Amino acid sequence: MPDTVDVVVIGGGVIGISTAWFLAKQGVSVLVCDKGRVAGEQSSRNWGWIRQQGRDAAELPIVTDSINHWERFAKELDEDIGFTRQGVMYAAENDSQLEEYEKWMQTATQHQLDTRMLSGTEVDELVRDKPGQWRGAMYTPSDGRAEPFKAVPALARNLRTLGGFIRESCAVRSVETQNGSISGVITEHGSVRTQAVVCAGGAWSTLFLANLGINLPQLTVRATVARTAPAPDIYPGNVALGEVAIRRRHDGGYTVASSNTNEHFIGADSFRHFFKFLPALSASVRFIRLRFSGDVVERMTPTRKWRDDEVSPFENTRVLNPEPSPKALSRMREGLAKRVPKLAELPFEEAWAGMIDVTPDVVPVMDEIPEHPGLYLATGFSGHGFGIGPGAGSVMADMVMGRSPKHDLSRFRMGRFADGTPMVPGPGL
Ligand SMILES: Cc1cc2nc3c(=O)[nH]c(=O)nc-3n(C[C@H](O)[C@H](O)[C@H](O)COP(=O)(O)OP(=O)(O)OC[C@H]3O[C@@H](n4cnc5c(N)ncnc54)[C@H](O)[C@@H]3O)c2cc1C
Repeated sequence: MPDTVDVVVIGGGVIGISTAWFLAKQGVSVLVCDKGRVAGEQSSRNWGWIRQQGRDAAELPIVTDSINHWERFAKELDEDIGFTRQGVMYAAENDSQLEEYEKWMQTATQHQLDTRMLSGTEVDELVRDKPGQWRGAMYTPSDGRAEPFKAVPALARNLRTLGGFIRESCAVRSVETQNGSISGVITEHGSVRTQAVVCAGGAWSTLFLANLGINLPQLTVRATVARTAPAPDIYPGNVALGEVAIRRRHDGGYTVASSNTNEHFIGADSFRHFFKFLPALSASVRFIRLRFSGDVVERMTPTRKWRDDEVSPFENTRVLNPEPSPKALSRMREGLAKRVPKLAELPFEEAWAGMIDVTPDVVPVMDEIPEHPGLYLATGFSGHGFGIGPGAGSVMADMVMGRSPKHDLSRFRMGRFADGTPMVPGPGL
């Protein structure tokens, strides 16, 4: 554990590790602390889609950079991260779905993406199961995928070779300030002096900030995933087929998810932030289920205040490992039987779940907290932070180093939640 570093990053997920990597690459001394393990939470549990398709327009230039970073990591890291550009497709079974996708084509054209609309026959040529069920699709061939549980740890190992420090099982309890500016962090293993802290705590960021008296409206959603045994070749990339989404894996199986069984467990924060989330809730009412009990809520919000010298909630839950939802698993089975019969009989070799951090407008916060100079926030990636991770890391590194941003970051300001900016949800999880 170093005594002093230029920057401390809280959280060893894709956002924290990428931020630290871009800092270390430019000679900045950096320490990443994770209460549990590198990529123990969302960053190893996600579907592994790296997509530009269907994104909020403000995120697009960052995610396009991000795919290029992933491609470079795939070539330059000494480990296989499973990266490949095999495209993202959203299939449509009727005209109204098709029209919804066509609206997004305007954004794609403005950003010169290779996104195009496909006919039903073209979908059947690419998706090799049960022809005749699709009216068409939106398709972006340059989109990609990687194996999350390999990719983020590989980048973390490379960060170490650049001189970056990583400390696992090391919760950051709080920050220290001098004249209002950041002067250090207090971890469960002692203090570290620093002038800049990046909070990339994923689903825990709200709690960390609440203890500092900072209000971040962010809620969590449970998403369940499974993987099949090695399977016949249906589609080489990532495809959403109505109720079910599949992604070819490097091990020859498919990662499978239900598109409409994300679950929010109601807790005190749901009421606290209810009005801010109302637009997002109405826009995604078909995809989100509300649940009224859950151990996860108790784990994540046992208290909003603790002393620096007492055990924090972060130490009590080293790795947030929610139970997969039986309902979601049975919906995946139904979805496979209906849409991809060739996969329907294969056993699920493993199932898991993760808690997604969601903001009211379904886009992240990437900003310095105005009242706390030196405290930066990169959180709320709202179900699509894996693909954009390296791009966001590069943005955060520039911000911490005081460089002018390469992209327009106004949509990602922290202040938008308090200054009356209307909450207009981005295109979704
Ligand atoms: C099931 C599922 C499917 C998804 N599919 C996709 C997809 O296909 N494509 C895509 O782009 N995105 C996807 N996502 C979203 C993506 O995984 C997340 O947006 C991204 O991983 C967020 O990264 P993060 O680094 O912000 O958070 P996390 O990966 O959650 O990391 C946060 C880390 O912070 C640590 N931490 C928190 N508080 C403290 C503290 N006080 N001290 C020390 N450590 C702390 C935690 O232990 C954790 O390891 C999916 C998410 C889920 C759950």
